[in-house]
Amino acid sequence: MRHRIAVVGGGPAGLTFARVLHRHGHPATVLERDPTPDARPPGGTLDLHEGLGQLALEKAGLLAGFQELSRPEGQAMRILDVDGTVLRDWRPRPDDRANPEIDRGQLRDLLLGPLDIQWGRGVTQVAPGSRDGVLVHFADGRQETFDLVVGADGAWSRIRPAVSPVTPRYTGVTSVETSLDDIDTRHPDLARLIGDGSVAVYGVNRSLVAQRNSGGHVKVYAKFRAPLDWHTNLDLADVEAVRSRLLALFDGWAAPVLDLLHHGTAFVHRPFYTLPVSHTWTHVPGVTLLGDAAHLMPPLGAGANLAMLEGAELAESLATGPGDPDDTVRAFEEQMWARAGRWAKITTAGLERLVSPDPAEALAFFDQIQPS
Ligand SMILES: Cc1cc2nc3c(=O)[nH]c(=O)nc-3n(C[C@H](O)[C@H](O)[C@H](O)COP(=O)(O)OP(=O)(O)OC[C@H]3O[C@@H](n4cnc5c(N)ncnc54)[C@H](O)[C@@H]3O)c2cc1C
Repeated sequence: MRHRIAVVGGGPAGLTFARVLHRHGHPATVLERDPTPDARPPGGTLDLHEGLGQLALEKAGLLAGFQELSRPEGQAMRILDVDGTVLRDWRPRPDDRANPEIDRGQLRDLLLGPLDIQWGRGVTQVAPGSRDGVLVHFADGRQETFDLVVGADGAWSRIRPAVSPVTPRYTGVTSVETSLDDIDTRHPDLARLIGDGSVAVYGVNRSLVAQRNSGGHVKVYAKFRAPLDWHTNLDLADVEAVRSRLLALFDGWAAPVLDLLHHGTAFVHRPFYTLPVSHTWTHVPGVTLLGDAAHLMPPLGAGANLAMLEGAELAESLATGPGDPDDTVRAFEEQMWARAGRWAKITTAGLERLVSPDPAEALAFFDQIQPS
């Protein structure tokens, strides 16, 4: 394979793609918009499933590294009602390795390994179909040509328009995220409430979820149904104003649960957008998409897993497949669309039930995916 391959985006999809190609001795140019690996907080913990994210890491030769870093005990899940009554208290068996958690930053560093990333190279658009290949336009005005450009640049992909006119739509559910540090020493009561993994509280059209990351760091997600402009007269940078608005939204919930909001530091607003379930496109030679760029879905534990497996599978097929790389990409796309379509249906239905007018729906959903 002597193709000039560029992957746009150094998230789970792009890095796994590049790492698996690297393992097979093939270079790929990784173009990442962030100026450095630590330019932004890496985000919360991810659970990587056997058969999805873990299979991708196996293909990259990184499963043992993952097992050293990941937290199987982080699979624990406690569900409370809004009065603070424990409804479910699920703990994994000691040998359960089905969905261990790993911090995103740890996963990124594991995948980065020896890869040579071009940081600070934001792409603005690509133009397939030129005689010399696919023309990539950069934010700094430069241009470069490749034979294959893989768009792994997330929800607001700049590569997607080259294959599809579709853009993400708001789901009607938004999230405000906050975090707590040194939970075990600074907030021992909250540490007990959260346990080793996560605690979730489901009310009418809203939920509060707290998830343990490594090193006593906890991320809290307040999710609720609201119009996209719910914050028009609220300054999202004003921590105390956001805190009081959230406390008003969750008014009446048990005091220990609300302490998750009382002690949260900064607040980040993240509305949930999705691409249509079963998003596909007419194949365009020289350009394809992976991960959220291809199939943005509600954040219910599938997106990074799919992104990584797709990256691994496409890289493996390109490196080992006998035929024309374009046929390989075409076949890969069919396989990706079928699997992602199934997960998009599951996660879309899941979001409806987890942030629902009837909190019993959320409990029923949990019992369905996590039978005791
Ligand atoms: C709160 C929350 C919790 C989640 N929990 C889970 C979970 O437990 N398990 C799970 O599987 N999934 C989870 N997800 C979903 C998961 O985060 C995404 O599906 C996953 O990150 C997608 O990976 P990606 O590589 O496709 O895109 P991204 O992670 O978005 O990475 C895209 C990369 O491209 C770069 N980029 C963007 N634009 C450009 C450009 N123009 N030029 C160059 N570079 C660019 C970005 O800087 C970024 O590094 C969660 C999501 C959220 C919001």
